[in-house]
Amino acid sequence: MNIILLGPPGAGKGTQAKKIEEYYSLPHISTGDILRENINNNTSLGVKAKSYMSRGELVPDELLITIIKDRLSKNDCSKGFMLDGYPRTIPQADALQMILTESNKKLDAVLNIAVDDEELIERLSGRRMCKCGASYHVNFNPPLKDGVCNVCKGQLYQRDDDKPEAIKNRLIVYKKQTQPLIDYYNRKKLLRTIDGSKEISQIFEDIKSVLEAL
Ligand code: ADP
Ligand code: ADP
Ligand code: ZN
Repeated sequence: MNIILLGPPGAGKGTQAKKIEEYYSLPHISTGDILRENINNNTSLGVKAKSYMSRGELVPDELLITIIKDRLSKNDCSKGFMLDGYPRTIPQADALQMILTESNKKLDAVLNIAVDDEELIERLSGRRMCKCGASYHVNFNPPLKDGVCNVCKGQLYQRDDDKPEAIKNRLIVYKKQTQPLIDYYNRKKLLRTIDGSKEISQIFEDIKSVLEAL
């Protein structure tokens, strides 16, 4: 199964991706996580990406296309994959199409997680992250122990781009550059819209129903 999780910042893509990864044993490919790891390791990619990310802008398409091409060529993607945070622009979606065609693969579904702006702002402002990729919310999904990751016991932190100015910009960037992908995948008959305003566990049930029906 080859799927994409689409949705605005804060929709719950990462949260659901962790559940899908575990339940279906699909590799979870988060371009945001890959970029943050490169920033932490001070790689040349990380240095290039950092200023865009902290402002809430998108990192240039060429860099993302290279990342995704490399990642999809790894062995663990041979039986399926789940993309989270890619594609975010039409050129990225076109590039993905080319990469998949070259390797005789195709997409099975694009899960569009829909949440309104007011809720997104609340979710992003209360989000706390762990280096292992787990994400929490101070009110909606708190860790068992304050400030500590349930999974790896790492120390939780707030992302730079989860501060008010960057959040505002990311929502604008989403509407302008990423939202057109809803129409793009709808025309390809791949789009499945999920109501992302529900409880985390209910959304996962809805996602399973959609995936079982494929
Ligand atoms: P994304 O990867 O789409 O940016 P996350 O999965 O990181 O989103 O979720 C954003 C924030 O909202 C996190 O703090 C997360 O714990 C919280 N969250 C995720 N899903 C829900 C939900 N269904 N209801 C309430 N809060 C949620
Ligand atoms: P969220 O879904 O919560 O906004 P991500 O972790 O997916 O966050 O992305 C964080 C940031 O990383 C984005 O705001 C952007 O700067 C960069 N980024 C991640 N994926 C892409 C992509 N496919 N294209 C361009 N920039 C990206
Ligand atoms: Zn952790």
